[in-house]
Amino acid sequence: MPATTPSTADIAEIRTAVAALCARFPGAYWRALDRDRAYPTEFVRALTEGGFLGCLIPEEYGGSGLGLIAAAAILEEVQRSGCNGAACHAQMYIMGTLLRHGSPAQKSQWLPQIASGAIRLQAFGVTEPGAGTDTTAIRTTAERRGGRYLVNGQKVWTSRAEHSDLLLLLARTTARAEAATRTAGLSVFLVDLRAARGRGVTIRPIRTMMNHATTEVFFDNLEVPAENLVGEEGKGFRYILDGMNAERILIAAECIGDARWFIAAATAYAKGRVVFGRPIGQNQGIQFPIARAYAASEAAALMVERAARLYEQGEPCGKEANMAKLLAADASWQAGDMCVQTHGGFGFAEEYDVERKFRETRLYQVAPISTNLILSYLAEHVLGLPRSY
Ligand SMILES: Cc1cc2nc3c(=O)[nH]c(=O)nc-3n(C[C@H](O)[C@H](O)[C@H](O)COP(=O)(O)OP(=O)(O)OC[C@H]3O[C@@H](n4cnc5c(N)ncnc54)[C@H](O)[C@@H]3O)c2cc1C
Repeated sequence: MPATTPSTADIAEIRTAVAALCARFPGAYWRALDRDRAYPTEFVRALTEGGFLGCLIPEEYGGSGLGLIAAAAILEEVQRSGCNGAACHAQMYIMGTLLRHGSPAQKSQWLPQIASGAIRLQAFGVTEPGAGTDTTAIRTTAERRGGRYLVNGQKVWTSRAEHSDLLLLLARTTARAEAATRTAGLSVFLVDLRAARGRGVTIRPIRTMMNHATTEVFFDNLEVPAENLVGEEGKGFRYILDGMNAERILIAAECIGDARWFIAAATAYAKGRVVFGRPIGQNQGIQFPIARAYAASEAAALMVERAARLYEQGEPCGKEANMAKLLAADASWQAGDMCVQTHGGFGFAEEYDVERKFRETRLYQVAPISTNLILSYLAEHVLGLPRSY
């Protein structure tokens, strides 16, 4: 089911439509939510109704089937407009596991509902208190009991679980000591949170430095019907890995959007702010960090484009997806830091949105994969250096 690769004109049209939608959700909207740590329900509804969150779902399942280049453009534009796609970006790519590995019955049951926005699949439960970077160390178990699995354990940093109908869960179906390899014995399940809440699932929000709707999720003898197992039992680690290139490319596109927002905000401020009788932007001490951030973000954007193109052509793109995520996250962080500095004291004032975007973009140095782990992937898998772990 190859995606229909959109033309440059189509992408420009998509960007214009997303920018117009985002203009309805200005800084004041995000600041109010940020203060209350509240979920941007209206924004997510608008993106869903606009068909943007279903762009990776093939047309036969009710999506637009536009593919990753379009998805990257959508998320970049959301961030460039000052909005926050983290509220719903996972809806685009989590369903990829279902699309690639789900049964025909699962796909026809869920994908059209996800595409239409009737249900949300925005939560992805992999990380646990004792297993972040090392996914194979997860301890949440799913034990087969006839036609059901009994799930016990705990996840942490399960973002959007309170706002999602479905959760894609990674759990251990074979004890680590008994599994044939380190990565075997893990399985993926679709958990219907609507039915599970209060019947084996407890969700507790975690307050974080930015508004991210993240939670910890506790499983206590949760019953999951066996038909909710995605793909084959024991192969879940592979299925999760399969989705990582798309996730990295899309998060990288968001970082490019953030970098562009910071650069535009800094440039405008530097032109208007007068100190010592002249705009601060006349000083090279102000100009050069903006120009440097611009060069870094444009270079990173080329890597994001390359990775997205390879992905869409079905070519191997692990190296490029990882480099895109690394370079784009660095570029957005560099641009964010520069933007705060350019604004002086006002960089810390809520009403400029700089401090909010600065807090939001910091996440991408750590999640969904930390910078160190990308460097170690490049060092070991691309350059052939000895394994460090
Ligand atoms: C706001 C937020 C939202 C998130 N959303 C989700 C979600 O929806 N679903 C989900 O499953 N997870 C989610 N995560 C979890 C995220 O993917 C993990 O935080 C991330 O993978 C890092 O794992 P950790 O926090 O356990 O860090 P650890 O694994 O404890 O690592 C701590 C630090 O040590 C470094 N480190 C570890 N091992 C090595 C090594 N071998 N070499 C060099 N450095 C190393 C890491 O890079 C990191 O900087 C979220 C996290 C946050 C903060």
